[in-house]
Amino acid sequence: MNVISIFRRFLPGYKHYIGLSLLFNFISAIFSLFSFAALIPILQMLFGVRQTGIIYREWAWGDSLKSIADAVGNNLNWWIENLIMVHGPVLTLFFVALFLIVMTAFKVGAAYLGVRMTVPIRTGVVRDIRNQMYRKIVSLPIGYFTEERKGDIMSRMTADVTEVEVSIVNAVEMIFKNPLLIAIYLLVLMLMSWQMTAFVLLLLPISGWMIGRLGKNLKLSSAEAQAQQGEMLSQLDETLGGLRVVKAFNAEKKVQDRFALLNEKIRKTFNHILFRYHLAFPSSEFMGTVVIALLLWFGGMLILRGESSIDAAEFIYFLVIFYSIINPAKDLSRAMYGVRKGMAALERIDKILDAADSIPDPVNPVPLKGFEHQIEYRNLSFSYGADWVLKDINLVIPKGKTVALVGQSGSGKTTLIDLFPKFYKVEKGEILIDGINIKDINAHDLRKLIGNVNQEAILFNDTFFNNIAFGVENATQEQVMEAAKIANAHDFIMATENGYQTTIGDRGSKLSGGQRQRISIARAILKNPPVLILDEATSALDTESEKMVQEALDHLMQNRTTLVVAHRLSTIKKADEICVMHEGRIVERGKHEELLALNGYYRRLVDMQSF
Ligand code: ADP
Repeated sequence: MNVISIFRRFLPGYKHYIGLSLLFNFISAIFSLFSFAALIPILQMLFGVRQTGIIYREWAWGDSLKSIADAVGNNLNWWIENLIMVHGPVLTLFFVALFLIVMTAFKVGAAYLGVRMTVPIRTGVVRDIRNQMYRKIVSLPIGYFTEERKGDIMSRMTADVTEVEVSIVNAVEMIFKNPLLIAIYLLVLMLMSWQMTAFVLLLLPISGWMIGRLGKNLKLSSAEAQAQQGEMLSQLDETLGGLRVVKAFNAEKKVQDRFALLNEKIRKTFNHILFRYHLAFPSSEFMGTVVIALLLWFGGMLILRGESSIDAAEFIYFLVIFYSIINPAKDLSRAMYGVRKGMAALERIDKILDAADSIPDPVNPVPLKGFEHQIEYRNLSFSYGADWVLKDINLVIPKGKTVALVGQSGSGKTTLIDLFPKFYKVEKGEILIDGINIKDINAHDLRKLIGNVNQEAILFNDTFFNNIAFGVENATQEQVMEAAKIANAHDFIMATENGYQTTIGDRGSKLSGGQRQRISIARAILKNPPVLILDEATSALDTESEKMVQEALDHLMQNRTTLVVAHRLSTIKKADEICVMHEGRIVERGKHEELLALNGYYRRLVDMQSF
């Protein structure tokens, strides 16, 4: 990917800003030429080398550029001579200085507007990238995030986007401003003295090339640095989440050491990057001075020998303009350095943006009106990549019935229920709803029918109201309250300071385990879906909360089709069918009493109370 393709990708929406920016930069360049031009008469007057007897010269727009420039220069001189004759040299000098001030004011004003126009581009591009990434992250299937680490994704979204902002967007500013300045200045130089300009043109590319070589492996180190920062965020995230365990196991020193090690690695990488990066400034400064010195020698020689088309004062004007080229040229080379760093960050961002959705919606989806008859798992096997986690599952859940899955941890229960809402892709066998294969249905349509209550209640740092109303558009206060009442959550919500408008803290940290569960049950009740997918919490609650949660669940399951990973004997006993899972297979199925009588897996689970 090169700079051009980046511009083509991000800038089309900002054409008018680019146009305006170019215009203001052009105006600024013209004003700066005029402001520098004031130097010529000042120097000539001070050194007493002014010509006299200048005659006003006529010119027209049709003349060649060179003759217009000559005529304008001549007439300015003529005008200044008149001023000197009328007002004397001191007052004229004051006028010229005033002219310099006014022109400079216009110049910096236009330059400011030129840069100002790039601000909306910069902030806009960053906003666009962030939005694209967030949209992508939300739309990617759950399976994607088990492979990519959370911290790394966060670092891509923050540090990498910032890197792109400063480097590439800076480059945009430079690339729309500096080449224009350089071109205008070069044109003027050319008109003044083509020999000296040709000399300069020979030197500039050579020094540019030397500076460019220094930035060569900056991109590689940058990519490494960003990856390491991602790792750091991962570690931090892990530590914050597991602080309890860290302290309980006296592992502070251990995690501190691990962090310090990584941190040191990051420092080294940055040392490497910054050593090189800062080389850009002195080397371009040095090369710039070398070029100026050579030019002084070459131009001075032409003037001393009387072979030059310009006098000494004009030579200084020439030098000033040339010096003004060096700055934008320097910036340009620095921007190119930056682009190398930014490119590495952009590639990391693209890793997410270009990630293929492994479960795209079908091209011609079958519309799903509602749910009438049954859900069926047919000859289904599933693997996350290595071993088969589910093997040859056949299961029918008729409408209105409850099927409970029981089995040891790791037997595949969660995987089985996660396949129905298309969280993972079914590779072998099929899942049907009313006879339609779920792969022919849009995920959105399918999930509309499903209510989900997870093992760990997933809550957001928001109000009770918004947490309960999460899956429903335009829920009213009455509806939310009604759902909370059914879920046994109303009373404790009302007991909080602001009732339904109380914020529950990060992931509901201000609530007890039972309360969190009841909120997530209220959320499912409000959505009122025909199908329920339940992953019962394994964590033990005290008897009182347990009763409250159980009641809430009973209300939720009433008149619904439910597939539940069950851990409570009460839930299991009420199920219409119990499926006992073992190593990815359904090994026994039936009612509680029947299964007990089998004296097999189920009996052992019940005896050990290990659901
Ligand atoms: P259960 O819910 O019965 O405890 P799971 O369905 O969670 O069982 O897990 C079944 C098997 O699949 C386990 O061996 C587990 O290690 C594996 N597994 C679960 N989730 C993933 C995943 N995202 N990637 C790879 N393997 C997984």
